[in-house]
Amino acid sequence: MIPIARPGIGVEEQEAVLRVLASGQLAAGPLVEEFEQRFAEICGVREAVAVSSGTAALHLALLAHGVGPGDEVITSPFSFAATANTIVLVGATPVLVDIDPDTCNIDPALVEAAITPKTKAIMPVHLYGNLAAMDRLLPIIEKHGLILIEDACQAVAASYQGRMAGSFGTGCFSFYATKNVTTGEGGIVTTNDPAIADQVRLWRSHGQRERYHHVAIGYNMRMTELQAAIGNEQLKKLDRFTEQRIANAAYLDSQLSDVVKTPVVRPGYRHVYHQYTIRIPEARDAFADALRERGVGSAVHYPCPIHLQPYYRDRGMNLSLPVAETAAQQVLSIPVHPELSQDDLETVAREVRALCQSR
Ligand SMILES: *Cc1c(COP(=O)(O)O)cnc(C)c1O
Repeated sequence: MIPIARPGIGVEEQEAVLRVLASGQLAAGPLVEEFEQRFAEICGVREAVAVSSGTAALHLALLAHGVGPGDEVITSPFSFAATANTIVLVGATPVLVDIDPDTCNIDPALVEAAITPKTKAIMPVHLYGNLAAMDRLLPIIEKHGLILIEDACQAVAASYQGRMAGSFGTGCFSFYATKNVTTGEGGIVTTNDPAIADQVRLWRSHGQRERYHHVAIGYNMRMTELQAAIGNEQLKKLDRFTEQRIANAAYLDSQLSDVVKTPVVRPGYRHVYHQYTIRIPEARDAFADALRERGVGSAVHYPCPIHLQPYYRDRGMNLSLPVAETAAQQVLSIPVHPELSQDDLETVAREVRALCQSR
């Protein structure tokens, strides 16, 4: 079976972890600082603060900006649940607006229509590794004086007109095992504002600037030296990983775009293909089963939009967001990751093509 995801871990990561284990410095130390500096450079921002997960990054970014009870945050219903969950966790209200059917990213016209006096922030999700429509969102955010928190968990190295994901506002990234670069679990917050970075550091580590001196309350959401050791090796490979994903996607486009709806990328946008997601208009799950029988793994991102999840439905979020609901029934992600051999990639394209043609 050709898997939908496989972490690109080599001997470099293995040796780096062994060096940390031998060093005796397991909790955050110089490797975490090195990781933060490398990551800030990649994103073209002043500061990056490493944390324990992408969820922690979103949570702490919201807290650092003072988002809390009484505030509304506009975001996408078509994402991993962590996006909306972190808004709930800080006591604010997620306002979910429908998506663009081509990119599955939040629809800027609906964002503007959803702004109320309570709106404090906008949290676009750069889904599948493709930036939300920043060309249209930035003027809206500016005009209304809103905070921009990017859920860039899937979008390391994505850009719009050369501006990197995570550099438009406060950026939140994940290094979960299947993401484009991984530390097993992990995350980071990027910002050009030193005051926000300081707040994230305080929330990350019990409100301490110095050990045992607590100027605020906070969590323990720190990254470990073991994670950073893996992360530093992964970042050295980031360009190669990203270029391979883009090349794999170009090949899939060339083999599939006449038989199925393939990803849409607008001019000026660099899509980094965390996922390569096609649309199967009918009986998507049967299509995925048949693909598995032919030796090709796939996945659905996501089978249920956030507003229809039991937690949100039970709390009165009786929304109708038809574009997201249709997408949830039709999307199918197929393997695009850099660990695919040329043979694997050709098999993926051939089998998907054959199945599309047999329908
Ligand atoms: C992975 C992901 C998260 C959560 O990151 P974790 O590291 O798993 O906590 C949040 N939002 C999106 C869009 C993601 O893909």
